[in-house]
Amino acid sequence: STSQIHNILIPTTAPQDRRPLIISGPSGAGKGTLIQKLIDTHPHTFELTVSHTTRQPRPGEKDGISYHFVSVETYNTLKHNGDLIEDAMYTGAFYGTSKAALAEILDKGLIPILDIEMTGVQQVKTSGFDARYVFVKPRDLGVLEERLRGRGTESERDIRARLDRARRELEFAETAGVFQRIIVNDDLGRAYAELEGFVFGLG
Ligand code: 5GP
Repeated sequence: STSQIHNILIPTTAPQDRRPLIISGPSGAGKGTLIQKLIDTHPHTFELTVSHTTRQPRPGEKDGISYHFVSVETYNTLKHNGDLIEDAMYTGAFYGTSKAALAEILDKGLIPILDIEMTGVQQVKTSGFDARYVFVKPRDLGVLEERLRGRGTESERDIRARLDRARRELEFAETAGVFQRIIVNDDLGRAYAELEGFVFGLG
């Protein structure tokens, strides 16, 4: 249902489709901003799964909130114990979603959002995980490069690795047929409206 305030239709209820949302897309495509906006606009509806990673925290990232920052040893233990529903290597670090991170959100009755890269997407898809799959991409790779550089959080070597990865991710999104929606993030407001419309089944 919607409530009409000043002739603007605002979704007031939770999405009818309660399946977890997998939101993928190259680093620098603006996924994080879109996801945060979705969470903030609809309180008590969505929650981002907190992944485990072996990469170093960036300035401002907090352990247990942005990620669980762990050693390779701890990561391998989780993996070998079967505690991860998917895991990937991305520009020199491991990333994985734990069963516990997912269960914590489901137990609260909220809709989990997984921000994961393509090999993780392939794993959850192949495992038959019932979810909705969205891909967020930049208008072109030049824009992506600018954003990655502008962010100033990665080394030159890491930026190049991420751009190389981005090329493969864009190709995967176009050819694998995994994603129900591919959103071009050329304009934040427009891209957000498209994401919200998809999530709430309005468009
Ligand atoms: P970043 O280092 O920029 O935080 O993340 C790098 C990439 O790893 C992003 O594409 C992000 O979506 C992905 N990622 C983050 N957490 C996970 C995870 O748990 N599993 C997988 N497969 N990818 C992840």
